[in-house]
Amino acid sequence: MRRPTLTTLRARSPWRVLGGFGQAINGACRYVAPASVEELSATLARAHEEGLTVAFRGAGRSYGDASINTRGLVVDTQRLTRVHRWDPGSGEFECEPGVTVEGLWRRTIEDGYWPAVVPGTMRPTMGGCLAMNIHGKNNFRAGPFGEHVQEIDLVTPSGEVLTCNREQNPDVFHAAIGGLGMLGAITRVKLKLKKIESGLLRVDARVGRNLDEIFECFEELIPKSDYVVGWIDCFARNGSLGRGQLHAAHYLHGDEDPDPQGSLHVERQGLPSTILGFPRGKLWIPMQFFVNDLGVAMVNRAKYWSSYFGDGASYLQSHVGFAFLLDYVPDWRLAYGDGGFVQYQVFIPKETAKATLKTLLDLGQRRGFPSYLGVLKRHRPDAFLLSHAVDGWSLAMDFKVTRGNREALWKHFAEMTAIVLDAGGRFYFAKDGVLTSADVARAYGQERIDRFAAIKQRLDPDGTLNSDLSRRALGL
Ligand SMILES: Cc1cc2nc3c(=O)[nH]c(=O)nc-3n(C[C@H](O)[C@H](O)[C@H](O)COP(=O)(O)OP(=O)(O)OC[C@H]3O[C@@H](n4cnc5c(N)ncnc54)[C@H](O)[C@@H]3O)c2cc1C
Repeated sequence: MRRPTLTTLRARSPWRVLGGFGQAINGACRYVAPASVEELSATLARAHEEGLTVAFRGAGRSYGDASINTRGLVVDTQRLTRVHRWDPGSGEFECEPGVTVEGLWRRTIEDGYWPAVVPGTMRPTMGGCLAMNIHGKNNFRAGPFGEHVQEIDLVTPSGEVLTCNREQNPDVFHAAIGGLGMLGAITRVKLKLKKIESGLLRVDARVGRNLDEIFECFEELIPKSDYVVGWIDCFARNGSLGRGQLHAAHYLHGDEDPDPQGSLHVERQGLPSTILGFPRGKLWIPMQFFVNDLGVAMVNRAKYWSSYFGDGASYLQSHVGFAFLLDYVPDWRLAYGDGGFVQYQVFIPKETAKATLKTLLDLGQRRGFPSYLGVLKRHRPDAFLLSHAVDGWSLAMDFKVTRGNREALWKHFAEMTAIVLDAGGRFYFAKDGVLTSADVARAYGQERIDRFAAIKQRLDPDGTLNSDLSRRALGL
């Protein structure tokens, strides 16, 4: 190990306190933001030489500790935004890892292409989407992000550049996508985008009076929809437990959109600058007064009844408006206050999903921890080694963290985790801040974890790549 001098990376990298998106988990890390892929590769090699551990960071949109490396180095990839190639003939897009989902759709929509899979926000980078193998509201149909990736380049701590696709290094391809940045830096990605004929989607809204109705309605919508997502009122009790609203969306074809060139225009995809006359950027300020049990219960009740009376509504909405609902209110997370919040997303096989979700909703209410948000999706399995998707359902839940409730809330997570594991479920690392490595081994199977560890041993034998998440949840 080199002694720290002014020329060492250790001495040159300032300390920063970095947090997850939920702001409930933070760590003091050394920080660098290379300006080129060459600089990133040199930084990684230098860190390896100096015995510094490295975690990569995209836009920091993972809720927990995925891109935090307490006392180690965090390498921010957001400056790596070169687009190598965009071919509107084939829909192939090749770029550096710091290009964001927003940068991608802005570049391609006027040519009639949209990313095949997007998360609920357009801020994440390609590197972050790959390392978590993100899913969208169309997971049941389109699979995860990785299924639309043709090729990646991976730089290992020894400086080797591995080109990985389904023929070349297929084991690394299927492990690095969804591999939490633990096998190398993804420095190039080649994607295939989805051809669209209009900048609009047809959206149908449906209401369910309890979880049974929500599941029934979801099942009915899936075969005839391109996207389906459910909002669940986690405060509703008894016969209304799990009530909520579903939105199903469909691509438009042929002359369903009379002005496709107009609707595909970037300007027509923008989010409104005001909501109910209030500037979007300041909306989190009044929201603070509602982010408590009483306030959320009231808002949920109002939302449920307005959706009840709007049941069956059908309207046109832009791709951006439908996909990135959570970007409507910038900085909404600040409304949770100083303690932040934890998002906890469970994936349960279809056979046990409904009963398990009812148990979790009921338990949350009994323990005094009803989730402030509930988002329901349908998933299907995929071929990636650390895939979080199962043939079943996921529910994402948000829990406010305060100094006073932290200990009890973490006990509640442990109790919920045991229920999910008994039901054969999994979790999602992008939304995790609480699982132990024993939980993860049970959820993913020790055999998968061992296969992942063997690939890591081959590519990163000295364990240079590490993060708070990988230490806690994978025991690396
Ligand atoms: C409001 C909101 C809504 C969301 N909705 C969804 C959703 O619907 N579906 C979904 O799946 N996710 C969703 N997410 C989660 C988000 O998509 C993921 O956490 C994503 O990974 C964030 O990307 P990022 O660029 O911010 O990466 P970060 O969060 O900074 O990092 C994520 C991981 O990527 C690794 N990484 C980053 N760059 C590289 C690289 N170049 N090479 C190797 N590893 C790298 C990091 O080490 C880390 O492990 C949502 C998040 C928010 C805040």
